[in-house]
Amino acid sequence: MDLKAREEEYFFKTYKRLDIEIARGEGCWLISKTGERYLDLFGGLAVNSLGYNHPKINEAIRTQINKYIHLSNLFLQESQVDLAELLIKNTGYKKIFFSNSGTEAMEGTIKLARKWGKEKGKSELIAFHGSFHGRTMGALSITGREKYRNGYEPFLQGSIFSTYNDAQELISKVNQKTLAVVLEFIQGEGGINEADAQFVQTISELREKFGFLLIADEIQSGIGRTGKFFAFNHLNIAPDVVVIAKPLGGGLPLGAFLGNERVADVFTYGVHGTTFGGNPVACSAGIATIKEIVENGGMQNAENIGSYLKSKFNELKLKYPNLIKDVRGRGCMLGIELKHEGESLVTEMLKNKVLINCTNTNVIRLLPPLILTKDEADFAIEQFDSIFSTLNK
Ligand SMILES: *Cc1c(COP(=O)(O)O)cnc(C)c1O
Repeated sequence: MDLKAREEEYFFKTYKRLDIEIARGEGCWLISKTGERYLDLFGGLAVNSLGYNHPKINEAIRTQINKYIHLSNLFLQESQVDLAELLIKNTGYKKIFFSNSGTEAMEGTIKLARKWGKEKGKSELIAFHGSFHGRTMGALSITGREKYRNGYEPFLQGSIFSTYNDAQELISKVNQKTLAVVLEFIQGEGGINEADAQFVQTISELREKFGFLLIADEIQSGIGRTGKFFAFNHLNIAPDVVVIAKPLGGGLPLGAFLGNERVADVFTYGVHGTTFGGNPVACSAGIATIKEIVENGGMQNAENIGSYLKSKFNELKLKYPNLIKDVRGRGCMLGIELKHEGESLVTEMLKNKVLINCTNTNVIRLLPPLILTKDEADFAIEQFDSIFSTLNK
């Protein structure tokens, strides 16, 4: 049996796989078993920030595996502490906890918030329609997408949804019992929707008045992707807790949440923990990744190449007004809203050797590696242009 048939035989049907088999990756390109090269514009769904086969990540992994691959969290671990220091120095937060994934980091954050709010009588979590915070029961309880929620009820008590960017609705839902407001400053899965400055200002005023925690889910948008370290750094706001993951481990599983002084002393020995979280190999790869992004131009390139791509897509929007409805996002987190469903465009682009992702039915979501070059961006745009021109007929 071939690989595809074996997969279909053995796996629960949770993933719809692309119809190519990958042999290896190099920079922003994936090379198939038949030797064809594909430009990857979704970069492991925001994981491969430095593309594939990055020499510094590989070197960091090799160095660490020669020391130890796992050490229990009963031990101090140098790579954990080094990565924590790097993150804290770059963000100004006070404390960190490492997990294995985004969902787990969100789960830990909910627990942190609960413990913080217990004696204050605060218990309600407010999240937004269109949000995605993960698939465990806690994270799913604050995920505002029917597609992911259906059939998994009942959810965590006190999970409330409000409409993204609707200040009036949020005002009507916040009160003294509000424990936390959880949001993606740019919604990823929900279709690259950006929080507007006025809405964020309202959240800030409500937090001042009611004293809830503001939790930023930067799992997809964080660590330089939008041209600043966090997407919320483009706005005038300082969340109390920030959740990160995807690119954090340079391709290895790693997540974390960072908290400010308001939550710094909530956790005490033994009240939260994990066996694998903060794996030393993942942390070593993470150190190499963050240094490249922050100190070696990755973040700056994300900003530059992102604005370039965005301007090119805006040109395509003028050229194909009956195909493209809107162009959104920042840096290497862009959304092109189509006037038709996007799955066929994904298939056509695959034939033209460009890998794109479609979310929320009609939004092409681009999450290219932060190291994308102008030539690569131009190649992608040419392919979009050529396919849009055929679709236009
Ligand atoms: C991917 C994602 C998650 C979940 O992270 P996993 O590592 O898949 O568990 C949560 N929030 C956002 C915004 C994400 O993009």
